[in-house]
Amino acid sequence: MSRVVVIGGGIAGYSAALGARREGAEVTVVARAPGATALYAGAMEVVDDLDAILKTQPHHPFTRLGLDSVRLSLELDAAIQSLLLALEKDGLKVEGGWRTRGRYADIHGLARPGNLVPATVAPGELQALIGRRVAVVGVAEVGDYDAVATAQALSELHGITAFAEQVSIADLPTAAALTDLYGRRAPVLTKARAATAAYPPGFTNLPPDSFELLSTPPSPHGWRLQQAIGLGSIKATVESVESARGRITSVRAGERSLRGDSFILATGHHIGGGLDGGRVPSEPLLNLGVFHDGEAVAGSGTRLQHLQYIDPAEELRSGLRADNQLHPVDESGQVPYSNLYAAGAVLGGYDYAGACGFGVPILTGWLAGRWAAKSGT
Ligand SMILES: Cc1cc2nc3c(=O)[nH]c(=O)nc-3n(C[C@H](O)[C@H](O)[C@H](O)COP(=O)(O)OP(=O)(O)OC[C@H]3O[C@@H](n4cnc5c(N)ncnc54)[C@H](O)[C@@H]3O)c2cc1C
Repeated sequence: MSRVVVIGGGIAGYSAALGARREGAEVTVVARAPGATALYAGAMEVVDDLDAILKTQPHHPFTRLGLDSVRLSLELDAAIQSLLLALEKDGLKVEGGWRTRGRYADIHGLARPGNLVPATVAPGELQALIGRRVAVVGVAEVGDYDAVATAQALSELHGITAFAEQVSIADLPTAAALTDLYGRRAPVLTKARAATAAYPPGFTNLPPDSFELLSTPPSPHGWRLQQAIGLGSIKATVESVESARGRITSVRAGERSLRGDSFILATGHHIGGGLDGGRVPSEPLLNLGVFHDGEAVAGSGTRLQHLQYIDPAEELRSGLRADNQLHPVDESGQVPYSNLYAAGAVLGGYDYAGACGFGVPILTGWLAGRWAAKSGT
């Protein structure tokens, strides 16, 4: 049985562990802390237009896999089926598929697209709400959320018949925050019969015919997901690696030395800690190459710094570059470690908070896990 060590406890690390276990590997996941996964709004974007990505985005991690759209589609099917089953087993029911995309409102009534959403969010798909009466639940003591404004936005922006319904939760202090609702039982509405109820996120035991709105950070949806995927991982920081003859032999996390046949770097972007920011972004653990638009950032002079100033979203496309087996390369394009794989937002070439925000971590994690497990046998 091969031993796979996954560094990173976000959605990429979780998907990598699933892929590796699927191939029969013994998997250890090491994670320092929650990263970007714990901040997601509640709607997972997997992919918008796969064919367009393959045609127009040569540096996108999907394109760099070198697979045609049929094979990629099959891998996405397998990865997502396996992810939804595993999440349900770990206590979080998520619905949807990568071929369909819905739109869901956040606490301000603004729409966000999503391919996969928690079962508590799914009934709030905006198109499905047209023609229904929606009662937006407001909590009188909460100061950072206004159900009246949200209902107004649902009506004006999305043509939904919506109105606010205020409740009071006696043991909350005045000017409580949305986060104070986390884990409380949903208050039952008395007046708004015959209406679908839209709850701010965080409550438990939602009544029938109701749903949760999406969140802004800090996100109850992200926290629930992080708790589900974090079961069974070792909480530690990987500080260094030992290697011999172009292969990593073990990683050191505090007093522990974790040996493995293959290693997966799923350390995320700036928030996760997989990349250090600054004037020139770098990869802190192994000093791997960081690329922007296919070019090593170390050699791009002041262009990237100007880009950070003019268009920060574009700068977020910087990250690791991998070959078509997900082995990360150094600045000269060579693979420094033949048993190292990279997955998720640590990879560059795409907008990690955009249309493939979860798609890249899920698919690259799944494939990295499977390939790592197979190569170690
Ligand atoms: C504010 C925000 C909101 C977002 N909302 C959405 C959304 O609504 N929908 C969507 O589709 N996408 C969204 N995204 C994008 C999406 O959340 C991320 O792309 C995705 O979660 C990245 O997953 P990951 O596993 O690659 O990285 P992360 O979740 O960041 O995980 C990285 C992990 O690596 C660990 N790590 C790093 N270095 C080490 C080390 N040396 N040793 C041990 N562990 C280490 C970290 O502690 C962490 O556990 C959002 C992003 C942000 C920032």
